[in-house]
Amino acid sequence: MQGKDLQEEKFLGIYVHVPFCAHKCAFCGFFQQPPRRQTLDMYVETLAGDMRLQQIDRQVNTIYFGGGTPSILPTEHIYKIGETLPINSSLQEWSVECSPTGVTAEKMKAFRDIGVTRLTLGIQSFDQKILQTIGRRQTLKQVFTAYDTMCSCGFENIGIDLIFAIPGQSLESWETDLKIALSLSPKHISTYNLTFEGNSELNKQMCAGKISPLCSDVEAEFFIRTGEILAQHGYDRYEVSNFSKPGFESIHNVHTWEMCEWVGYGPSASSQFNDERFTNVPSLQLWREGILNGRHKRCDFQKLSEEILIQDSLIFGLRMTRGVDLQKLSGRFKSFSKAKYETLFNLLIDNKLATCDGNNLSLTLDGLLVADTISVEILSVESSTFPRKAASGSLILPPRRPV
Ligand code: SF4
Repeated sequence: MQGKDLQEEKFLGIYVHVPFCAHKCAFCGFFQQPPRRQTLDMYVETLAGDMRLQQIDRQVNTIYFGGGTPSILPTEHIYKIGETLPINSSLQEWSVECSPTGVTAEKMKAFRDIGVTRLTLGIQSFDQKILQTIGRRQTLKQVFTAYDTMCSCGFENIGIDLIFAIPGQSLESWETDLKIALSLSPKHISTYNLTFEGNSELNKQMCAGKISPLCSDVEAEFFIRTGEILAQHGYDRYEVSNFSKPGFESIHNVHTWEMCEWVGYGPSASSQFNDERFTNVPSLQLWREGILNGRHKRCDFQKLSEEILIQDSLIFGLRMTRGVDLQKLSGRFKSFSKAKYETLFNLLIDNKLATCDGNNLSLTLDGLLVADTISVEILSVESSTFPRKAASGSLILPPRRPV
């Protein structure tokens, strides 16, 4: 996979947050707001200012437009943003998230004209009842028309996003979703286990006792069945929630999971750049104020030590099915000590949650199911609170819950 070379060559990604949605989904925890013409104009103008203020003097390898709904942008704004971005010959991938209700041939052509190479379509489900539960206002006709429009505008690298383990969803209904998804023949399929985000409508309903999450064993069944069905159709699981046809992994995402650097533009966009991590303020108004005053308003600052990068390389690296090359990790981070993690790694292997092939440590399917718990254990090694053992001497593992 391309990601192997990314760290060595100091690859850089750009993330652009487009914070507009026509309607808020019930599961959404992202920063977004309704698209008003004036606000859209102001956003695009300020985005150019953001890019001038946070200039980068490195080759850019990937660009990712997320949101929000990037496909909500009017065509002229797409062209304007395209003119502003620092695009160069190193660019390998440029992804844009689209919503079935926002796709038009004119916009898709504009994305192609500015150099976009990859589109993802947020479908989430094909089941109208499930769509109602998660507050998505799209018809099946809109989904198929959107997909056809993307193809007819010349995009070959298309991914679709689906969500499983939604209250009221049966395994049969999910399998039907997967079958319909497969009939579209996308190059990439993301399957996310529903999470109840703090400020989302679904979380409010759950706290009020109106809906209940599926139990973790059922979620695990969805997770395992998804892998089986997609594998039968030639899709490799390359990360806990992500599958692709060979060669169609998301380069940008692999790049971020490998702890390479990226710069985020737009309100609420995060960056990992020059040994720091930070997030632009999640408010259009405050973000604009900062840009106009020549000083970004940012939050969640974190100075990146080798220790943090080692932890995160292990946490995110192990979420990828190819795992982590421990020798490479030692080469990259002088302070990485395999011995420090030996007890944890051996416990994972003994519990059949991981395997080690030479220098490569990777999680088994059972390990991927508890990847979140393994992350906590990795953090506890660095904070010297490991081993957090049960009386039996085995790892404390909460219920299996894929993420
Ligand atoms: S889930 Fe995506 S499309 Fe839905 S409201 Fe949130 S950002 Fe918008």
